[in-house]
Amino acid sequence: MDYRLRVDRRARHVRLRITPRGELVVTVPPGFSEADLGPILARRADWVQQVRARQRRHQAAAPETGGARPRRVLLAAIEEAWEVNYAPVQARTLQALPGRRLLRVDARAGDAELGAALRRWLQARAKAVLPPWLARVSEETGLVFHSVGVRGQRSRWGSCSARGHISLNRNLLFLPADTVRYLLVHELCHTRHLDHSPAFWQEVARHQADWRQQEGVLREAGRRLPLWCHAP
Ligand SMILES: [Zn+2]
Repeated sequence: MDYRLRVDRRARHVRLRITPRGELVVTVPPGFSEADLGPILARRADWVQQVRARQRRHQAAAPETGGARPRRVLLAAIEEAWEVNYAPVQARTLQALPGRRLLRVDARAGDAELGAALRRWLQARAKAVLPPWLARVSEETGLVFHSVGVRGQRSRWGSCSARGHISLNRNLLFLPADTVRYLLVHELCHTRHLDHSPAFWQEVARHQADWRQQEGVLREAGRRLPLWCHAP
């Protein structure tokens, strides 16, 4: 089995992770002998295959949008469908024509270069859309935040610091608008309760009745992001 080995000073056990691109990353504590990995990998082989098969199914289910070289980009949250046009020669890797909802990309760009350009474009789109959206929900709910940032986190949709700084994941743009609103409510409620205590969930429920269902959507959605969203 192919894998990439990482030594982590803080790791106490061997950990296996599969990246969205299907790469197996094995994290081990310092001093761990690679020879001892054999039995561990053998025991987890079925799991690795299952995760990779699921990833392939998701991509096959969305051939137009799901891969590294998409034909279309669907931003469900803001109901935008962008066409991706691969032109043979292009001054820049990516040129966005908002009026036509068109992304012109250089056909010669490799997958990595194209992915980076698409992520930069998505970041700009999310920065234009998410902070004002958060401000609207803040006004609606009366929950006040201090500041907001937009990033491309790998494993979180959002976070809220003790000082009321809310960080939002640009990939939220791929989710349904209701789900994004729930995430915004969730982070805003953390300005009153930093934990996930019963009091916190009560506050959430006051502003978003279907929060349980939306939590489920969020948990599933990370696996269905287009491949180009993930840095290699
Ligand atoms: Zn939370």
